[in-house]
Amino acid sequence: MPSQVLKPRFRKVQTFQTNYAPAVITQYESERSGMQVVVADRKGPKINGYFTLATEIFDDSGAPHTLEHLVFMGSKNYRYKGLLDKLAGRAYSNTNAWTAVDHTAYTLETAGWDGFAQILPVYLEHVIVPNITDDACVTEVHHVDGEGNDAGVVYSEMQALQYSSSELMDLRARRLLYPENIGFRYETGGMMEALRVLTPERIRAFHKAMYQPRNLVIVIVGEADHENLLQILDEFEESIKDIISPLDDDFKRPFVDSPQPPPLKETTVETVEFPEEDESTGEILVAFFGPDCNDQVQITAMGILITYLCGSSVSVIENIMVEREELASSVSGWWDARPNSVIWFQPAGVETEKLAFVEQRFISLLKEVASKPLDMAYMTECIQRDRRQVKFQAEGSEGFYSNNIITDYLFGKRDGSTLAELQCLKEYDVLEAWGDKEWRAFLTKWLSDAHHVSILGKPSMKLATSLKEAEEARIARRKEALGEDGLQELKVRLEIAKNNNEKPIPPGILDQWPVPDTSSIHFIESATARSGKARILGASVNSAQKVIDAAPQGLPLFIQFEDVPTNFVHLTIHIGTSETPAKYKPLLPLFADNFYNTPVVRDGKQMEFEDVVKQLEKDTISYQINGAGRVGDYEGMTIQFQVEPDKYSTMISWLRTLMFDTVFDPVRIKAAIVKALADIPEAKRDGRSMAQEIDTGIHMRPESNLVARRTLVKAVYLRRLKKLLEKEPETVISWFDDLRRSLFTFQNLRVLVTADVAKLANPVAAWDALTSAPHMDPTKDILPITKPYAMLNDEGNAPGSFGSVIIPMTTLDSSYSVSTATGLKSFADPRLPAYLVALGYLEAVEGPLWNAVRGNGLAYGVSFTREVDGGFIQYRVYRSPDASKAIEASRATVSRLASGKDPLDRHLVEGAVSGIVLAAADEQATMAAAAQQNFLLGVIRGLEPDWNRKILARVREVTDDEIRAAMTEIVLPVFEPGKSNVVVTCAPIMEESMVKALSEMGYKTQVQPLSHFYDDYGLKADEDEGNDDEDEDDDSEEESDGSDEDMED
Ligand SMILES: [Zn+2]
Repeated sequence: MPSQVLKPRFRKVQTFQTNYAPAVITQYESERSGMQVVVADRKGPKINGYFTLATEIFDDSGAPHTLEHLVFMGSKNYRYKGLLDKLAGRAYSNTNAWTAVDHTAYTLETAGWDGFAQILPVYLEHVIVPNITDDACVTEVHHVDGEGNDAGVVYSEMQALQYSSSELMDLRARRLLYPENIGFRYETGGMMEALRVLTPERIRAFHKAMYQPRNLVIVIVGEADHENLLQILDEFEESIKDIISPLDDDFKRPFVDSPQPPPLKETTVETVEFPEEDESTGEILVAFFGPDCNDQVQITAMGILITYLCGSSVSVIENIMVEREELASSVSGWWDARPNSVIWFQPAGVETEKLAFVEQRFISLLKEVASKPLDMAYMTECIQRDRRQVKFQAEGSEGFYSNNIITDYLFGKRDGSTLAELQCLKEYDVLEAWGDKEWRAFLTKWLSDAHHVSILGKPSMKLATSLKEAEEARIARRKEALGEDGLQELKVRLEIAKNNNEKPIPPGILDQWPVPDTSSIHFIESATARSGKARILGASVNSAQKVIDAAPQGLPLFIQFEDVPTNFVHLTIHIGTSETPAKYKPLLPLFADNFYNTPVVRDGKQMEFEDVVKQLEKDTISYQINGAGRVGDYEGMTIQFQVEPDKYSTMISWLRTLMFDTVFDPVRIKAAIVKALADIPEAKRDGRSMAQEIDTGIHMRPESNLVARRTLVKAVYLRRLKKLLEKEPETVISWFDDLRRSLFTFQNLRVLVTADVAKLANPVAAWDALTSAPHMDPTKDILPITKPYAMLNDEGNAPGSFGSVIIPMTTLDSSYSVSTATGLKSFADPRLPAYLVALGYLEAVEGPLWNAVRGNGLAYGVSFTREVDGGFIQYRVYRSPDASKAIEASRATVSRLASGKDPLDRHLVEGAVSGIVLAAADEQATMAAAAQQNFLLGVIRGLEPDWNRKILARVREVTDDEIRAAMTEIVLPVFEPGKSNVVVTCAPIMEESMVKALSEMGYKTQVQPLSHFYDDYGLKADEDEGNDDEDEDDDSEEESDGSDEDMED
């Protein structure tokens, strides 16, 4: 065959290195099909592909969105639903897709090039030559079921969306911005009434028009093998050459060759109602046309102007409208990239009767700002901060490249000249030279003097009712028109479609593709160096350790350095809580919320919280305080900063200020309590998290942060704390002082510095600025990290005697459950590799539990927990018409596999191993993540540095017998009465049958109201609380139904 020697027919358009982040961008174009390929090469184990088509349509049929689903139903040569996903599952890959108003993107994320290369041609065939059958359209798009109801995957998705306030307001705004000949006007997801009449022919025609190689860009971010890539694409084009339209054929580029929207001739303000029972607050959406997204200077200026106006609590619009005039709970701003971009502002949480007034106030404020000199010092900070954040994103997130490349493909010049502007950030230099005059002219032109479209979103109870009634009447009319026979016909039609779609994949087909090699997965190397108390963990021989050893040493703080070639410094300070008394643990979330938002004393002077925020914004890229779960410790906390290297010592001095020189202010603490209280009603309506919280309380000690931070604690604790704060502020403040003293001690701190270590000035001794604080005692030994299983209580150490509990909740119309049994306690457990493979096997997409539970409509989802050293295993059922049936079906499935009655499917075992590899790559996808993994393994878990490598090797060697043993010994007990406990939250109507089912399984049962599990951590109500309604927002059934109901026999 002559084609074997031909060079791929792809022309390299350009290649360049970005000068602000380590990436090389290369653009190719196919000379025979016009397909474009843009690769952003950057180091790491993950390859991310975005196969993107520009999709323009002039109706609300939703054809673009339906393809996003239909493409996965099979292709010309592979006519099996699920084949692509099964194949991807064994090749360290995941697939997904999205539909926007102007494009559809299909994603492929893979660990290593070899897996990516294997899936790529099969995936592209699905995209360009899908097998769109009428049967697929029935199940995936829309159908009427045997009861006369509308259903279908896309239809149900849009049903959940179409009457939401954001959708109604956004769509109305676009109808006012764009005339009928502009694609941006339409709902590409599909309006329900249009989806009901959409035909397969229309979908196929849309596919034919838009899904052409010359309208497709293959965007790849990661380490790509270019030669191999072009070879694969060339062969793919060869396979479809009969359907590629000649390049000299008439083809109009979507959006670019189409008519452009005319400018707005006038300002329009319209009210749009949305269905909502609570009519107290609404929202506002304001839209302006903005500059061309291809003009880097103008569009970057717009982004910075939006930040200047409403980027944070200290920016002018947000500060006046939210903080001072209290007209809205927030004002956000963003823009959509288009040839005529759209600038959006959204004041949210606006009192309904003030909607019109607040809209006018917003516009008058814009004019006010434009009429006076701007705060140019703050504007300069906004420019610099934006530039820092862009550089940071370019280094850490593949989304930076994919977003910019996709936008350029949609609207930029196809010769590559606009893409080339990604090379540098010179637009920021231009903007730094802009003065007050330029900025105000810009603001006046695009915003304050421009026509705009405003939508006042008004909640309406009446609309909620009438929509519901109209829908019921429509279904009733249809049922009548169809009659029994008509309905029966539809039922049969649906069954046929389902059967045709679910044709099983013959096992031999998957074997055509061998499981790819893992040698192409290049994990990021991060070299570890240690100083101070961290040296007890041992020190490596490497250049980073030499740099650290040669530096002045200072006090012996526990510091682990991770050396990677990053342009930034990522600081993580891990704080143990083992010396914090249990009674203060419920204060931790408030303490964290207050941490960066409170006055401080610096250089003897008090700084207000706004100034603290402003200064922190100036000195950092970002800053956070959280639980330490992300470094593998649920009992600790972390403070994190991302800064440029020259701010290293500035950050250390900030840490000292924030740890020791903050002023606890009753006003700020009260604000934090009020915010936290506002979240409680919604949290208490959530059946899934309430089941989990109750389970945690049953199995863990109150000293655990997981127990103390629950909503079930906050529900009583915070209200009492708020009262106490009003009566005795000094008592509450003294608690916060005690809490702070228990946290910020020398023996409690472990520091992770991720940086290009050689670039750090004074890396070790700089920390003396923190450790020389009066409370720090460097002679103390570091406290051990709390092992998760140490937090189990007696029941947690041997689950089974509690039995089951059913909690009826009026807010639910389905059920949720958590079952808990004893699990692994150590990463050294020899059963670990088999256990991980067993869980991956059971949970696989289209795997045994998926089919037994989801496939039979018993629950929307089920899952196991993955905690390896927690000493427990959990099984969760999510959104189920009857959780007890889902549990029973799961038990039967696992039991058949564990006993060998059902054989293990080899492809699913391969898929389970592949999933573990992909998860490992995910955890180490960036330099900062790889460094954090080293800290998690070595410092938190005390494992050897190559632990990940070893476990990945061992999971490959797991035998079927070992998998069955892990299922029998570790997994099955979670379904066994006497060895497991079950918590169920459910709709009240399910109570009786749930009690019956669980007791028939052999569990002790009890029924309890949610309030039974409240815990006040010893903060008692004072004597005059009596008449104050403790639980004013509680569901009534919790008050009336408080008696313990015992099981039926
Ligand atoms: Zn969808």
